[in-house]
Amino acid sequence: MAPELLDNPDDLRLYAVDTSEDLDDLIDAAYNTDPMAKKVVKALLIQSLWPKTVKRFMRVSFGDCELRDGRVFYHNKLFIPANDHLRSQIEYCTHALPASDHQGEAKTAELIKRHYWWPGLYREIGGFVGACHTCRRAKGLKESLQGLLHSLTVPFRPWASISVDYITGLPECSRHGVVYKHIFVEDHELYANTRRGDAPKYKIGDLVWLSSENIVTQRPSKKLSDKWLGPFAVSRTYKRACALELDRRFNGIFPVFHHSLLRPVEEPRTREQAEINKDSQDDQEGLIIVLDKRGRMQRKWIFDKVTNSRMHQKEGLQYYVEWQDGTASWQPARNLQGCHWILYEFHRNNKGKPGPPGWYRKKEALE
Ligand SMILES: [Zn+2]
Repeated sequence: MAPELLDNPDDLRLYAVDTSEDLDDLIDAAYNTDPMAKKVVKALLIQSLWPKTVKRFMRVSFGDCELRDGRVFYHNKLFIPANDHLRSQIEYCTHALPASDHQGEAKTAELIKRHYWWPGLYREIGGFVGACHTCRRAKGLKESLQGLLHSLTVPFRPWASISVDYITGLPECSRHGVVYKHIFVEDHELYANTRRGDAPKYKIGDLVWLSSENIVTQRPSKKLSDKWLGPFAVSRTYKRACALELDRRFNGIFPVFHHSLLRPVEEPRTREQAEINKDSQDDQEGLIIVLDKRGRMQRKWIFDKVTNSRMHQKEGLQYYVEWQDGTASWQPARNLQGCHWILYEFHRNNKGKPGPPGWYRKKEALE
């Protein structure tokens, strides 16, 4: 469980690790450059009521705002000027915090509102959360959201790395170096996507999500069970289907999909969010899609290594697989078909351990 945020605004400090730029500097810069922020400060400074343009912008009464050390507070919340970079930093770091963990807009807004305020805050945060690719990929799968900590904490430039410092000591936001080595094969049941709705009209160049529900899968690990893949660009349209520009993960896959398997991709709220979303795509690197013998799409997941084996009473032979994100799980031996040399190495180094499986020995005898 992540510790709860404390109520004192001083408890939360966001600061950059890799650059000299920190949130305070960004706020200062926004106050110094944003013309509207300057007008707000000026009105409070000379104790005149809001000028018309400021009134339209702020949408809160003059009496509810005060000036402290050159910064504007509304009901004790720091007013954040209309600066996309600054607001995106605050939105992203709050939304992706362990305390929020990509929860919905209400929770994200609540966390932000403990310290900050700006006019139209709820709408902006709604837009930000609605266009978060990490949320979108996992939508409908609560476990996925809970298990995504690594991918949540990929910071975006120009803050190469951001850490969130609580007095209570939450984990840092930092990019994790990941080396993908081996491939894990999923097989198993096919379940068809039967939903039919009013599909939006797509045009060439539109970005879409591709449902992964019709892709053969046996979910080796709940955190690798994204419901939506992509985004992919539409390269051609048909009456009820689109051709997509699939990436190299989809080698040899016929790229035409029925509308029922596609959803439009929401526009990022800011340029900064577009970068965050692009970074989150890196977390998809472990996944590739191939066709099985029956021509069905099959997911393959990339894992790090096998570290143990056991004979399970019901499941039979199992291997302990370490995933790319540092977690691990027991997998039935059949899921490791195609990973012969990994098993060879494992058993060579672990002579007393259960295994190898029958199909492995057969293959070995043929070679
Ligand atoms: Zn999210």
